[in-house]
Amino acid sequence: MVERIVVIGADAAGMSAASQALRTAAGRGRELEIVAVDRGRWTSYSACGIPYWVAGDVDGPDALIARTAEEHRANGIDVRLGTVAESVDLAAGTVEVAGIDDDRRERLGFDQLVLAIGAVPVRPDLPGIEARGIFGVQTLDDGAAVIDYLGIRKPRTAVVVGAGYIGLEMAEALVRRGMHVTVVEQEPEPMTTLDPDLGKSVRMAMIGMGIDVRTETGVEAFEAGGDGHVRRLVTESGEVDADVVVLGIGVRPASELASAAGLPLGAGGGIRVDDRLRVRGTENVWAAGDCVETFDRVRGAYVHVPLGTHANKQGRVLGTNLGGGDATFPGIVGTAVSKICDLEIARTGLREVDADAAGLEYVAVTIESTTRSGYYPGAEPLTVKVLAERPGGRLLGAQIVGKEDAAKRIDVLAMALWNEMTVMDVAMTDLSYAPPFSPVWDPVQIAARKAADKLT
Ligand SMILES: Cc1cc2nc3c(=O)[nH]c(=O)nc-3n(C[C@H](O)[C@H](O)[C@H](O)COP(=O)(O)OP(=O)(O)OC[C@H]3O[C@@H](n4cnc5c(N)ncnc54)[C@H](O)[C@@H]3O)c2cc1C
Repeated sequence: MVERIVVIGADAAGMSAASQALRTAAGRGRELEIVAVDRGRWTSYSACGIPYWVAGDVDGPDALIARTAEEHRANGIDVRLGTVAESVDLAAGTVEVAGIDDDRRERLGFDQLVLAIGAVPVRPDLPGIEARGIFGVQTLDDGAAVIDYLGIRKPRTAVVVGAGYIGLEMAEALVRRGMHVTVVEQEPEPMTTLDPDLGKSVRMAMIGMGIDVRTETGVEAFEAGGDGHVRRLVTESGEVDADVVVLGIGVRPASELASAAGLPLGAGGGIRVDDRLRVRGTENVWAAGDCVETFDRVRGAYVHVPLGTHANKQGRVLGTNLGGGDATFPGIVGTAVSKICDLEIARTGLREVDADAAGLEYVAVTIESTTRSGYYPGAEPLTVKVLAERPGGRLLGAQIVGKEDAAKRIDVLAMALWNEMTVMDVAMTDLSYAPPFSPVWDPVQIAARKAADKLT
């Protein structure tokens, strides 16, 4: 019997799962029929590229699409775009779908269901939020809507609410488009995924590129002109002109469809899945990507961390299982990297606030070093912060900010964290060295060594 799989959401998680399921099943001589629906116009796109598309660094949307609907169809997946899944009937094994721009309606039957419905940007419930020109950014359609608006309205002033990585990347893009950009953030420093001492370097970089940074500032309302388009923000510390607003205050799992179907959600609102990505308490429902909660190996708890790196890996694991194989997703350690202007920003594991909340005893060490040997042309400053558990020295977390070639060093520390290494181990691991690449002690090893010293 040919098994019928319905995939809702045709981006990173959904199409990785669908493609991998077909590959795995083919290797086992099994046949699958896969229907993938998405309310948007594109498949397998890189939302991560939206800020660079807005800035004009890359062409879009075609350059941001890893695999088009036609390519997926040629591989045997029945892709239906502009099609929204409105409800799921688990008992009947059906999904009710409808056309976005037409009156198509259909009830799709499934043997296995995949939820890869992503996340949605948080829209604060504030007066004026319904004004035109206030954008959250999550899908390629959202990116296209921002670009259309900039092209038509030609705004001179922009406000980004929230100074997380998406807010910062969008702020830089809007500066590059020639706008006067204000970033409003309620915390004392931007990038709250870092400790505030490193967040301060990010603030200085933002100011350096001409961004008006207003920290410890809450937004109270949005005001629109007579034409219904946003004109300004009202904040705790005054008004800010805004011809366009981008919301960067985070995303929440798009789990309404799942909860309406009676599927279990975690504390962060994400769908609860087991390590094979099957939805808990079900036999034939699977979920992956930004809509699920993921096990954090350092915290020992389920968290919602919406990143493309997890969505792609989870999609592959899910697809392997759907196709008759056996794979597990081992969890995350909280590694992320981004940049604003020429400042690279990276983190993994716990911040001080996380370690405090977990009741851990730890030492924290911050060092300044350079990306190459100090005497070698192009050496740039970088800062590395490391947290290690007291007394044993287990690495708990790390953060890096610095110029070119700084940030990807976090991967060394993420690998150490993954393998529960101590800072003593990290300091003595056989890492490479030559003057064009690092000082003789790589900065991550200097930080680990200093943390080890502090422990003794
Ligand atoms: C600006 C930006 C920059 C980013 N940069 C990075 C980065 O540098 N590194 C990184 O790791 N991650 C980054 N991310 C995050 C990354 O893009 C997401 O984690 C990833 O796209 C999640 O993939 P997904 O398939 O789970 O969900 P999504 O990409 O959100 O896809 C979900 C799909 O489901 C569809 N859908 C939802 N509900 C329905 C429904 N009811 N019916 C039909 N279709 C539906 C949506 O239209 C959407 O296409 C960035 C995100 C943004 C917005």
